[in-house]
Amino acid sequence: MIPLKLSAIADFCVGKLHGKDLTVEKVMTDSRADCTDALFVALVGERFDAHEFINTAENQGAIALMVSRKVDSELPQIIVEDTEKALGQLARFVRQEVNPKVVGITGSAGKTTVKELVASILRLVDTGSKESVLATKGNFNNHIGVPLTLLDLNKEHEYAVIEMGANHKGEIAYCASLAKPNVSVINNVEPAHLEGFGSIEGVAEAKSEIYQSLGESGTAIINLDCEFASQWLEEFIDCHKVTVSRHNDAHFSANNVHLNSEGLVTFDLIKRHLTGKDSVTVTLQLAGLHNVSNALVAAAICSQFDVELDTIKRGLEQAGSVKGRLNLIAGLQGCLIIDDTYNASVGSVKAAIDVLVSKQGEPIFAFGDMGELGTESARYHKEIGDYAKQKGVKKLFAFGTEVAHTVKAFGDGAEFFIDNNALIDAVRGQLDSTQVILIKGSRSARMEQVVQALQEPQ
Ligand code: ATP
Ligand code: MG
Repeated sequence: MIPLKLSAIADFCVGKLHGKDLTVEKVMTDSRADCTDALFVALVGERFDAHEFINTAENQGAIALMVSRKVDSELPQIIVEDTEKALGQLARFVRQEVNPKVVGITGSAGKTTVKELVASILRLVDTGSKESVLATKGNFNNHIGVPLTLLDLNKEHEYAVIEMGANHKGEIAYCASLAKPNVSVINNVEPAHLEGFGSIEGVAEAKSEIYQSLGESGTAIINLDCEFASQWLEEFIDCHKVTVSRHNDAHFSANNVHLNSEGLVTFDLIKRHLTGKDSVTVTLQLAGLHNVSNALVAAAICSQFDVELDTIKRGLEQAGSVKGRLNLIAGLQGCLIIDDTYNASVGSVKAAIDVLVSKQGEPIFAFGDMGELGTESARYHKEIGDYAKQKGVKKLFAFGTEVAHTVKAFGDGAEFFIDNNALIDAVRGQLDSTQVILIKGSRSARMEQVVQALQEPQ
């Protein structure tokens, strides 16, 4: 963070400083982490109240506190009405002070992937500073993660690439009000987190808060392959709009999409402009044709900062895969594991099944429940069973509660287990070198444990 005095922080967070005025350059909210020289902000969550961990934060090196009630400590403390709100106010201030070019990325699937692709491209732009790109770390994409990411901004940063997720209405609007993106995208809209939104239309509406926040000088990247695209093109008339599509004509589109001899996704990236079209051939290090769409979105975003097509190509080609997203791993008895355990939504499960069946070998699918699908959950789990069967998956091993619908729809070749240990025990003995096994489920299914048990010992 840029260096700030506690008195200044107290001013714009409408708080009161008690104790000595110091300068801080770091903000922490997790008392278990290294808090050396940090301002510790005591957040109050549903399960935890960090005011109870002030001593731990102090032991971890915190030099000042932000609290919503006076605590018994020698450290200087800023007392505010609501620490979460104050964290946002501080983030908003830091964003304004540093004033980087900000990219906002939301959508149901592929946010982290697009963020990595954009960061990989922008890191190649010579801005004269060593560390010109700040990108969301990991998956820190909610109403706490976004302000914490923004607080990492310092004067070196020319770009901030901010992932924004949401599980309730208003969360994206809040995050966007802090980050104030210059360029924003809704990567796609799928039935994910339905419990918080009610319907897919509810999901689309919540995501569109990212476009709402843009204003006249901002640019909306619109994915024409998304069913809500025409609605957004009509609705957001004020901002500049740039379109992408894998299948139709758009400002950024793809042609000649195929897997090369090494199984990597290759395509011609086409940029349309007033007088014609430019094109470069791109080979991604990522598996899965859906990444063509992610790459087009990343290209469209970076072009808004006048990044040349050749630089975009290099950035896309250098970006590596992210842990748990379609990673290819050597499995027991010589089988190939596709580790897509990070999370699961309907669209990402289908995309992963497409990758599975594109690989050489007998396709097997180990599947755990997809979470948070609300009242439509049974229908979507059934849809996955039908899809897997139709695409030629040979065996389905599943555990959980909702996957019963998948097993039923899949029919012959499907086996149902009560928990992941039962699944592991049954599958372990059946693997051989002619097989490819996709392992996927929602975070709550902890499918990484299945990967661990079935991979070749390292
Ligand atoms: P989260 O909401 O958990 O933060 P995310 O939106 O950041 O997820 P990623 O982490 O990039 O998404 O990818 C999550 C899953 O979605 C992976 O399994 C990946 O293969 C799949 N995926 C990535 N991009 C797409 C896409 N454009 N369409 C469908 N599925 C995708
Ligand atoms: Mg993510």
